Amino acid sequence: MRICDIQAGEVRIPLRKPFRTALRTVENVEDILVRVVTDDGAEGFGEAPPTAVITGDTRGSIITAVRDFIRPALIGMEIENTEGIFQKLNHCMVKNTSAKAAVDMAIYDLFAKRCGLPLYQVLGGAAREIETDLTISVNEIGQMVEDSLEAVQRGYRILKIKVGKEGLKDVERIAAIREAVGPKVSLRVDANQGWDARQSVRIIRALEDKGINIELVEQPVPAWDFEGMKFVTSHVDTPILADESVFSAQDAIRLIQERAADLINIKLMKTGGIYNALKICSAAEIYGVECMIGCMLESKLAVSAAAHLAAARTVITKADLDGPSLCLFDPYEGGPEYRENMIYMMDAPGIGITRVPCSFLPEES
Ligand code: MG
Repeated sequence: MRICDIQAGEVRIPLRKPFRTALRTVENVEDILVRVVTDDGAEGFGEAPPTAVITGDTRGSIITAVRDFIRPALIGMEIENTEGIFQKLNHCMVKNTSAKAAVDMAIYDLFAKRCGLPLYQVLGGAAREIETDLTISVNEIGQMVEDSLEAVQRGYRILKIKVGKEGLKDVERIAAIREAVGPKVSLRVDANQGWDARQSVRIIRALEDKGINIELVEQPVPAWDFEGMKFVTSHVDTPILADESVFSAQDAIRLIQERAADLINIKLMKTGGIYNALKICSAAEIYGVECMIGCMLESKLAVSAAAHLAAARTVITKADLDGPSLCLFDPYEGGPEYRENMIYMMDAPGIGITRVPCSFLPEES
């Protein structure tokens, strides 16, 4: 069956509360949806959030990449020729990883539907459930404590605390949350590049000296600063997770070989989709490095593609797939089931989403 059309549409879902990190504040998920159609009428769906502060991708750039570059490159290709499709997808233009991710997951969705299997099984996986953390936005301490307690009440056993705005005040934030939630809740700390290397060491050591147990610290220093990442990783006991520093498999291999971080956060919007994410999984596995699977502000479609990958690869030992939990409602039909901290994989073919909340206008050939 041949690809006969690739269309873009848009989805908007309000968040339960504003999402605040060291880099930005957002109130709605406003993402681009992609539909890939074959000549027998089968369809696959994908999603990309415009996360300009991290990937450089905007609403306009994603739509243009899909319509003007990716669509003409892939039209007419046989859906069974996935290797050929992904080679073309990755080489028809540089960067634009979010647009590529949306099309990549739609192709995987179509191919798995054609196999009659859920995507995670096509990828070789057997895990039926995944536990995710929940993000606590950076705010005044009282608000963060309140949000953390509410999350624990909802059943979350792992919290991802956003910091990185005010240096040592972040120690107070984390200490107050630890005090409120008690010792059993796992705390992940994400500075989103908000500290410098020496400051990171001071902050993390202060947490260690206070005996505040932190599971990991994510991306303490700017994405480009591999030296800084290495300095932090070698001067603290707490595991350091690279996020914005790793987009590609090349980034992952360099970071691992330079011992610049202990863990890698894989996100489909950074890699350009599942095809390239699998390469990072393999590289990490070869070197004995564990991975987290994360997401941007994505709704259920893109997060479910990531969940299928996580269910398929044992090297992914941690999940930060809280996008759907942050949304006020779920506008999709089908797909994995999100019950607070747990994601349950279903047996429906493909990613499993059968209806998306937007209309797609066919492009003129
Ligand atoms: Mg992060």
